[in-house]
Amino acid sequence: MRTRWKKHAAAWACYVLLGAVAGVVVAWVAISNVSADGREFTEGPVSIEGLHLYIIADRSATNAGCHIQGFDNAALMLREVERRAAIPTPDGGVIGALTEAPSWAVAEIRKRREHLTPPSPDITRSMGVYVSGWPMHCVKGATTYAEDATPRVMFFGLIRDVVKMPLPYLILWPGLLLNAILYSPVFFALHEAWRWWVRHLRRSNGLCPTCAYDRKGLAETAPCPECGLAPRPRPAPAS
Ligand SMILES: [Zn+2]
Repeated sequence: MRTRWKKHAAAWACYVLLGAVAGVVVAWVAISNVSADGREFTEGPVSIEGLHLYIIADRSATNAGCHIQGFDNAALMLREVERRAAIPTPDGGVIGALTEAPSWAVAEIRKRREHLTPPSPDITRSMGVYVSGWPMHCVKGATTYAEDATPRVMFFGLIRDVVKMPLPYLILWPGLLLNAILYSPVFFALHEAWRWWVRHLRRSNGLCPTCAYDRKGLAETAPCPECGLAPRPRPAPAS
């Protein structure tokens, strides 16, 4: 009984592991299907811990990206607000609708704050943050731009140039675990279906459904000499 319990636990650990792989695959498929036209953004000025930022964020639930621009001071940030407001319907953006940084971007903003702090007013520092996953965000990546004398771009946790969007690969563990658990019954069902099919094939070929022992010459009711499985009694013909 104990070994059986262990077997079940091991099987479910495998289903969850497969669920985690599926979670990353779903996240990548979702982010690589982001089309430029269908995207909707909210944008607005946000200040976080003394950083003056202008954020343009995706409104999609499955995957999200945001562009974060850092300014030397609040006055420069407000000038960016005016500049954006002067553009009629910029890329599906809703100006002023964003009043705080998206929760999934805040950790990246804090972690890479030096990349968002301009060394002087005439230099812009900016950052892109990408997250993806369904129903929970489970992968993330970031890119930073320094528009200095020699512009510098840096990538963190992104696979580039595979599809049109960069694929984030830094794992967000709580999200990945939850997605993995939610996806695991799919692998349980697939495994059960596979097992049913194998048993069905063995039975119809005159083999023991459990161990594939050739039952040729055995009485229909005799247990399997290999594994001891007693065949299911056939339903009695109706009289
Ligand atoms: Zn058998």
